[in-house]
Amino acid sequence: VSLNPHNYRRPGWRCVECGEEWPCPARREFWLGKYPSPIARLRLRGILGALQLDAEKDLRVPFLDLDERFVGWTYARAE
Ligand SMILES: [Zn+2]
Repeated sequence: VSLNPHNYRRPGWRCVECGEEWPCPARREFWLGKYPSPIARLRLRGILGALQLDAEKDLRVPFLDLDERFVGWTYARAE
C-alpha cells in the first residue's frame, strides 16, 4: 500500500494533486510514515537529495536554496 498519488510534475516541481510546492504536506506525511527510523531517514535523505539535484536544474535556483524544501524538513520531524 505504498501508492501515493502526490507526485511532482517537472519542470515546475508542484504536486499534480494539490498544486503545492513539491514535496507537498501530504507527500511528506507519507514519507515520514514510510521511513520512520533514523536509518530509514538517512535513506530518505539520499532519495530527496537526488531529487533536489533534478529540481535545481529545472528551477534554476541555487542548490542550497532548495535544502529546506527537499531535505531540511526530515530533520525537524525525525524520531
Ligand atoms: Zn500534494
